[in-house]
Amino acid sequence: MSRDPLHILQSVFGYPEFRHQQADIIHHILSGGDALVLMPTGGGKSLCYQVPALCLDGLTVVVSPLIALMQNQVEALNQLGIPAAALNSSQEMDEQSQVRKALMAGEIKLLYVAPERLFSGNFPDILKRLNPALFAIDEAHCVSQWGHDFRPEYRRLALLQEQFPTVPRIALTATADTETRKDIVERLGLQYGKVFQSGFDRPNITYNVTDRKNGLNQLVSFLKNNHPDDAGIVYCMSRKKVEATAEKLQDAGYNALPYHAGLPSEVRATTLDRFLKEDGLIIVATIAFGMGIDKPDVRFVAHLDLPKNMESYYQETGRAGRDGLPATAWMTFGHQDIVKIKQLMGASLPPEQRLIENQKLSSLLDFCETVSCRRVLLLTYFGDENPAPCGNCDNCMAPPTLIDGTEDARLALSCIYRTGQMYGSGHIIDVLLGADTDKIRSTGHDTLNVYGKGTSKTRAEWQSLIRRLLALGYINTDTEGYGSLSLDEKCRPLLQGKESLHIRKLEKSKGGSSRSRAP
Ligand code: ADP
Ligand code: ZN
Repeated sequence: MSRDPLHILQSVFGYPEFRHQQADIIHHILSGGDALVLMPTGGGKSLCYQVPALCLDGLTVVVSPLIALMQNQVEALNQLGIPAAALNSSQEMDEQSQVRKALMAGEIKLLYVAPERLFSGNFPDILKRLNPALFAIDEAHCVSQWGHDFRPEYRRLALLQEQFPTVPRIALTATADTETRKDIVERLGLQYGKVFQSGFDRPNITYNVTDRKNGLNQLVSFLKNNHPDDAGIVYCMSRKKVEATAEKLQDAGYNALPYHAGLPSEVRATTLDRFLKEDGLIIVATIAFGMGIDKPDVRFVAHLDLPKNMESYYQETGRAGRDGLPATAWMTFGHQDIVKIKQLMGASLPPEQRLIENQKLSSLLDFCETVSCRRVLLLTYFGDENPAPCGNCDNCMAPPTLIDGTEDARLALSCIYRTGQMYGSGHIIDVLLGADTDKIRSTGHDTLNVYGKGTSKTRAEWQSLIRRLLALGYINTDTEGYGSLSLDEKCRPLLQGKESLHIRKLEKSKGGSSRSRAP
């Protein structure tokens, strides 16, 4: 027998109505179906299993990877008068046995467990006897190597389907691109379930990506033009850059503070506290800053360096405009970013993982390089079928002019090839521009027939073109971090004249600013 979900939502949780697809999801679960729920952080995933748990007779088991989150959820539920408990390795023995006792007595409606717990000791037998009514698998992306937080224990959750074939399962995650999504469905055996995806659009956020010239100056003019007194977050890749940027912003008269994992924890705590309480404070941070920040009136998130991938970009920019008022996601991007990220990947990742990260990086580069609506790209990445152009990103508001860059691209490719595929963009552009440098004299590159053939374009235009070629994967940079460029197999059709390339026409003095606008 099941109780009315809306009634539970109102009487137990105190909310007047369901959000996004919550009602559909809950209905689907209550009618016995499996589901994969994709919703951004803060979208309201928890209610998708908590409400059914209270509608159904019997126990709902929630698999969750983080003990701290588990504890939070259990406390919140207990405060609402809902009998929930957690079982995890951080508990004392007698606390564990108390929970077990309460479970056996049928006194618990929601049990939170870590995945490794589920199949250890005699727990599987206990679980069978308890005859659960629903399994919820939170942070479901942990089951996939494509996801950003792979946990081998999650693989064992495939057993749930074998051992409890008739019990509905709902898997939930905030981040899953198409590949991860497929993987989750496969790994957890959700083939017969339904995928629900909603709430990813953040219409009040204006997306803006500009070419990097001098990132810091561009940031200052962006702030001056758009957010002179607003609270915001500026992300940088390194601690050093965080410190330097915070200083520069202070010099420019902004109330800015650095935040990174190298600072003492008291300093970090005070900074965070001030950010939450004061008006108009700017935090300059590495990605160490962000987890659990819930400040509604962050008016902008700026990236001085590329984030790691689209998921990170979405999450980091998603901290802007939680209050629904206009906010800006602003980013500068230069090809050094690609070199740096590849360098990091090359050094730290096993080959299989590197392949995955490479694909993720190229999706992000597509986003940076696109000449059409950025929101369309973002939402498509997260699985939206046919989003319409938004009218609230830089490309929608000021559509870029496209020019045919085929010949120039061929010239650049040929220059990279002729110089032996071992130099960075600086030297390549010097050769194209016919510069007179020591390096050119010592390499004899002034005798090549490409030397000085590119004077019809400026250095900035060549940089932009090379970045585009990198983003398209037509050329590669080495993983040792020297930034040397080489041709990729992919550039062949372009060289053979079977393909053309359109590039963004650079505006002469684009300051990198734009007005935020309500959706
Ligand atoms: P997620 O797990 O997706 O990050 P949560 O489940 O923690 O998100 O929900 C985020 C916030 O939104 C919570 O404070 C929750 O109580 C609130 N919320 C969720 N659904 C609703 C709703 N239908 N009406 C009002 N508030 C909701
Ligand atoms: Zn747009």
